[in-house]
Amino acid sequence: MRPSRPADLPAAARRVPGALRGRLATALVARAGARRSLDPAAGAVALTFDDGPDPVFTPALLDELARLQVTATFFLVGRRAEAHPALVRRILADGHTVGSHSSTHPDPWRLGLRQLAGDYRRGRSQVERAAGRPAPLFRPPKGYVNGTGAAAMLAARARPWLWTIDPHDWEPGATTESIVAGVSGLGGGDVVLLHDAIEGPLAPAALDRSATVAAVPAIVALARGRGLQLTALA
Ligand SMILES: [Zn+2]
Repeated sequence: MRPSRPADLPAAARRVPGALRGRLATALVARAGARRSLDPAAGAVALTFDDGPDPVFTPALLDELARLQVTATFFLVGRRAEAHPALVRRILADGHTVGSHSSTHPDPWRLGLRQLAGDYRRGRSQVERAAGRPAPLFRPPKGYVNGTGAAAMLAARARPWLWTIDPHDWEPGATTESIVAGVSGLGGGDVVLLHDAIEGPLAPAALDRSATVAAVPAIVALARGRGLQLTALA
């Protein structure tokens, strides 16, 4: 039997569940409390790097950050942290902060709540095992914070962080120039989304993270030229 389509229902029956679902989703998103920006008055910005660690590009990025004396935040994919624990320890030894970014980097909207919350919990414990310390910070894959995503973050007791600036360094064909141009509006409180690895690339070219690593000195110079400190998230 075919399920009845919404158009088959009386108008009132269509409206009520939809409104309740909408209200519940809104309440869950508010409760999950994903933050996007720092206090603008503090005069600081944060660089964040997702999807790593990567055995080639993460060390190159860490060298660059050390040279520039910048601390950043890394949202690590659990299965990668598990595969490269020495890299996780180096990120921490260099003074950066680590959070988790799921275990397997799923498309969150494809999973039910139980599966998604399980993936988020597992990702956090994989990162914590590699790091040897608590890692409550979390970034949802694809920035997904809607209904199920919010409920999964709450179930995983995550402290979620989104971003304010996305210079699209994940796009195949992104260049150092395009990434720096994408950050040109940088101001106090901004959180910048960057990638030292790419999960589920749109094309293999995106796996090469050289342009992001090369953009970091110019982004740091831009921030410092505007009197902004570079800080890690908390
Ligand atoms: Zn990601």
